[in-house]
Parts: sequence; structure tokens; C-alpha cells
Amino acid sequence: MNNREFIERKTKILATLGPSSNTIKKIIELSKAGANAFRLNCSHLNEKDLEEYIYKIRRAEIIIKKPIGILVDLQGPKIRIGNVSNNQNILKKGDIFVLDNIKETGNNKRVYLSNKKIFNSVKKGHLILIDDGNIHLKITSITKNAIRTKVLQGGILKSNKGLNLPQSELKTSALSSSDKKFVKIASNLNVDWIALSFVQKPLDIKELKKLCDNKISVMAKIEKPSALKYINEICQIADGIMIARGDLGVELPIETVPGWQKKIIRTSRVNGKPVVVSTQMLESMTSSLTPTRAEVSDVANAVFEGADAIMLSAESASGSYPVETVKMMHKIAYSTENEKNYNKILANQIEQTPNTTPDAIAAAAKSLADDLSSPIIVCYTESGSTGIKVSRVRPTQTILTITPIIETARKLSLAWGVLCFLQKDEKNLEKMIESTKITVKKSGLADIGDKVVITAGLPLKVEGTTNLIRVTSIK
Ligand code: PEP
Repeated sequence: MNNREFIERKTKILATLGPSSNTIKKIIELSKAGANAFRLNCSHLNEKDLEEYIYKIRRAEIIIKKPIGILVDLQGPKIRIGNVSNNQNILKKGDIFVLDNIKETGNNKRVYLSNKKIFNSVKKGHLILIDDGNIHLKITSITKNAIRTKVLQGGILKSNKGLNLPQSELKTSALSSSDKKFVKIASNLNVDWIALSFVQKPLDIKELKKLCDNKISVMAKIEKPSALKYINEICQIADGIMIARGDLGVELPIETVPGWQKKIIRTSRVNGKPVVVSTQMLESMTSSLTPTRAEVSDVANAVFEGADAIMLSAESASGSYPVETVKMMHKIAYSTENEKNYNKILANQIEQTPNTTPDAIAAAAKSLADDLSSPIIVCYTESGSTGIKVSRVRPTQTILTITPIIETARKLSLAWGVLCFLQKDEKNLEKMIESTKITVKKSGLADIGDKVVITAGLPLKVEGTTNLIRVTSIK
């Protein structure tokens, strides 16, 4: 991929790291192929692994001299069944099956559940799904220590498989003790984003924000029907949203996921929160160099819907072709964004007009840049909030975000259309404008004689104060 395309692509690529990509060399190759940020999935890591991955990404960042975002993905209240015997334990439709708190190897009659809170979270008639929804059970009765069910859809019961409760609200903390240990490492090592799985309600996000002292941007993974009930409130509280289509497709009728994807992207965009579309985007590329036509359409569809970022899971973590998959994702996104109707489609999806000063400034910056044929909109930002506000209005121009803070540049690696440059801190507005003009000239994104629109917030070091627009000519 040439550098120009990397700069011009608006939709960001978030690639999960794993055994296929856990060296500094591979991280550099993936970054050069188009990955803007990396996801570290705590469901498959221990604490030492997490530290090592973060260290490797930061080393790669120094070598390629470009800010790289890191997203630590917490497992949250994911439930698993206990062990079952090695015999083929086949559950048949109509069988009675019990989930209990007896710490013994299970069979085709019963299995152990370690999470005690489940027993008082579920109700008679609720569904229990095991192994990515392969086995369906309906609860017929509940006691303090056991849940009795009838098998609605049978299958082979295997050890430690995931369990989903689409109709129940789990009365448990959103964060397990192991999640809390990962949060500590993420805070100490200054990661940029932290995602929480199985968010059920806005309070879950508040709990995580408090735990990381509001220092890390928090992303809510939407994969529970209960989160959909509160989607607007969750969007307002969280700093970003991930549409976790894997578990969402287990907890909801799978055919409703595309409709929800559209609604969640729009709600996130209205609220100005970066939104990531994830899971199985190029799944067949885990073992093939060519994606299916349907996968290409799925990636393009997320781009047309205005997602901020598109994600790779097993494709880049454990697949045979991580670098080729990132290159493919880049090509699909870049080509889709260059479709004649792309900008019109993005603009038509959001009707809501901004009602805060920063939103109005962002909208005005876009309209000024259009009227003056500016090639770029410059955002001077310390916290990143001005960059995100301008990204929200999805301008056709490149959003050149200038910041003295590396953490801000890393955080913005998931925001649509934002390109980040680091520049030394300035004490006052005029000095900031002068240095910004020099940075713009160096970037090669504007020519002599071009007018550029600059947005910022005054006073300079206060978050969320976007209140200034200046038009300046490049001399
Ligand atoms: C998902 O379920 O789609 C997801 C992104 O979460 P995980 O990869 O942790 O299962």
C-alpha cells in the first residue's frame, strides 16, 4: 500500500494480535499494511502476555515513528460450563439436563456452573444457550443450587464451552477479579482504549471508568439484548462502541444482527462516539488468500454505514495470512470510500443537527472548508475531543489533528478520518497557529495559497472547549 492511500483512508483498521502476529516484526508489517490500532483479547491472555504485547507494540511504534493505538479487551461476565467426561455426551431434543453447583465432571445429564450468581439471575422459561448457540435449553425449574432444563435443540456437550443467557440480566459485577487485574496493567502501562464485554447497562461502563480513574477511553461491547435496551444511554456514557457481532448473533436471532448494526452505528454517530464493527469480517482469510464475495460486501457495507473502524479477530490473531488480510481490508475500505456516492450516503444517514458549541463549530468548520475548497480541516487538540467532534460530521477533507500529547494521537487512531501529527506544546493561540501552519506545510497536505480551516478550544488546555475557528492561508 502506498503512503498516500494510508493517509487518505478514513475508516480505521483495528487488528487483533495473537499467536500469528506476536512479534515486533509482524506488528510493524501489520502497521505498514494498514492497521491503525491493535486489540489485545484478554480472553486468551494472561497478565504477563498482556504486558509483553503492550511492550512490543510500543517498540514497533518507536521504529515506525507513527502513533499506534492499543485496545485491551476485557472478558467481562462471560460464563463457561465446567468439564465434561471424554465420552460423547449427546444432548437430545426433549431430554432433561441440569446445571448445578456440584464440582464434579459433567455428562449428558448434568454439568457444573462455577458462577453462583446465575442461580438467582435466571427465571423459569428463560433460554440457556451453550457453545455459541449450538445447544438450546429451556429452564423448567430453579432451586438454590441447580437449574433444571429441557433440551430444545440438542448437540454434543463439550468441556468449558461458553454459555449465553439472552433473556436474563446477570446480577453480578460487570468486572471479574481477573478483569480488574488486567485493568491495573492497562492503567499502569498507559493503554489508550479498554473494552468491556457483555455490557448490560450504563452502570457497567461507569464502574469500569471509575476503576481506571477516567484515564483510559472506555469502549462498550454491545453483545447482550439488555445493552440494546439502553443503547442511547450507553452511547452517551462510553467513549466508544463495539458491535460485537459474534456473541450478539448468539444472544439475538442472527437475522436481526444487520438491522441492529445499522441502528447502533447511527446512534454512535449521533452521539459522536467512535464505533467499531467486529467479528468474521474476513473470516475465510484465516486459511485462504482470497475472501468470499459476501465478506467483501460486509466490509464495504460497514464502511458505507460510516463505521469509524473495522476489526479483524482470528484473521490477524491466529490465521495463516494476517498481513495479507489487513492489506485486503485496506483495499476494500479505500475502494469503497472512493465510490462516487460514498460521501452522500454518509451524510444522508444522520439527520440530527448539533446542539452544543463544539458540535456547531465542527459543523461550521466542515461547511467553511467546503465553501473555501480547503484540502484539510486542522484540529488543534489536547484531549482529542475537537478531533472527535470534527470526525463526527464526516467531512470530505482530511482531518489533520495536531496535538502535543502522544496519548491523544494514539486514542484518535480509532476515529474516522483523523490523521494525527505531534507538535510541541504552545503557550498561546498565535504561537499555536504559527506552529500549526508549519506542521501543515511539512505534512504536504496543503499547497502554498490554499486556505485551511483551523479549529481549537480556548483556553488551550481544557477538555471539551471546542469554540474557535480560524481561516488561514498557507504561504
Ligand atoms: C464478539 O463476540 O463479536 C467479540 C468481538 O468478542 P470476543 O472476540 O471477545 O468474543
